[in-house]
Amino acid sequence: MDDVRVRFAPSPTGYLHVGGARTALFNFLFARNKGGRFILRIEDTDLERSTREHERRLMDSLRWLKMEWDEGPDVGGDYGPYRQSERLDIYNDVVRKLMELGKAYEVYATPEEIEKLREDLIRSGNLPRYNRDMLTKFNTPDRIGRMRPAIFFEFEDKEYEFDDLIRGKITFRKGAIGDFVLMRSNGLPTYNFACVVDDHFMKITHVIRGDDHLSNTLRQLAIYEALGWNPPKFAHVSTILGSDGKKLSKRHNVSSIEGYRDRGYMPEAMINYLVLLGWSHPEGKEIMDLDEMIEKFSLDRISANPAMYDEGKLKWMNGYYIRNLDPRTITERAKKFIVKAGYLREEEFDEKFEWVVKVVESVRNGVNELSEIPSKIDFYFIPPKMVDLSDYGEDVLSSLRGFREELKKVMEWNEEGIRTAFKEYLKKAKVKRRDFYMALRLILTGRTEGPELLTVLEVLGKDEVLRRMSLL
Ligand code: GLU
Repeated sequence: MDDVRVRFAPSPTGYLHVGGARTALFNFLFARNKGGRFILRIEDTDLERSTREHERRLMDSLRWLKMEWDEGPDVGGDYGPYRQSERLDIYNDVVRKLMELGKAYEVYATPEEIEKLREDLIRSGNLPRYNRDMLTKFNTPDRIGRMRPAIFFEFEDKEYEFDDLIRGKITFRKGAIGDFVLMRSNGLPTYNFACVVDDHFMKITHVIRGDDHLSNTLRQLAIYEALGWNPPKFAHVSTILGSDGKKLSKRHNVSSIEGYRDRGYMPEAMINYLVLLGWSHPEGKEIMDLDEMIEKFSLDRISANPAMYDEGKLKWMNGYYIRNLDPRTITERAKKFIVKAGYLREEEFDEKFEWVVKVVESVRNGVNELSEIPSKIDFYFIPPKMVDLSDYGEDVLSSLRGFREELKKVMEWNEEGIRTAFKEYLKKAKVKRRDFYMALRLILTGRTEGPELLTVLEVLGKDEVLRRMSLL
């Protein structure tokens, strides 16, 4: 009965960002490590800002990162529905129960009136803490029955305490907050209320979320207590800071997960980078795959200190995966960039796949984002125009011409065959090797750097190499 159940509970009001993805990942890893369940709950009670399109894209991003959920709006489960907008009856039942218990009360005021009360409190030098006396003043006979009330929670003002699995004992002192809304006058629950109800009925055992929710945890603990429910265990993950030391936000211009995907980031690199934002491997390893993360993950290795978001390191890590994943995988993922650049049509890409793998493999060492690939492989598709060889003397040019004749004789056009041709020819040619190589590279690729020359020749193919060299 103690099986671990955790949830990721995004609001479908935008893309999946780095912070949310990290929260999801920690929940996912914890569940998988413990053999528990990972639940996706959609917190869509902000009807104006929530859309199904955002929900779909959030799910796409999670799946792209390989975080499959066991229960959720699309896959179902025993504790659904998994969209808050479909659970209104449940919230209404619980609110009724709280009213019967005397822990909640109706307030016949508009949100604007309640907001004004708040401003008045602040203006008169008070903390914006509501209580039943000041709020039920609105409940005049002309209002009751004529409008839908908001339902407030009667907060029991005292000290609250809990053991956070990351930061230890947390104490909220008395006097911090006052009564707060459970149900808005539009009939929708507030986040704090819906969250408690759902976590309870979905049998969530551990709530792992950002520490920006700490003050919500106080409200949620009070609701659990009022209902006589056991709260789950909490683990508040520290903030992610941008390079300026400020909390990561829109200002930092960090892409959404989709944005990274579209620029050619590897999901393997993303999760590897994300897991290190606050968690560390017991042996200090930096590069690891999902299976290893699952095996090694534990909450006690999550730091309570803020994590620094370092785009440069993420990019480096992406480069690492581009260099080390299977070349065919990399090539498949690079397809859209290559097709978009117009070097090959989709069908051509598929037909010549084995060859394209070699093309991609030849340049991937210097690539950190797949979107950089087209500009590095262009010469395979487009012969260089107007190669300027004026820096090279007649000796270099004539030895290149001689080499062309040598290459014609190569029967097996592969690395071995080409290498032998080079070796044999350069044994007798009187030319500075450096100049020879450089001029050959220029005539074949139009540039002074790129993949290994031998690879360039091999991948370009014999006919194309001879064609390009015939310009000499
Ligand atoms: N919908 C909330 C958020 O996105 C969920 C917070 C929680 O995990 O309780 O911040």
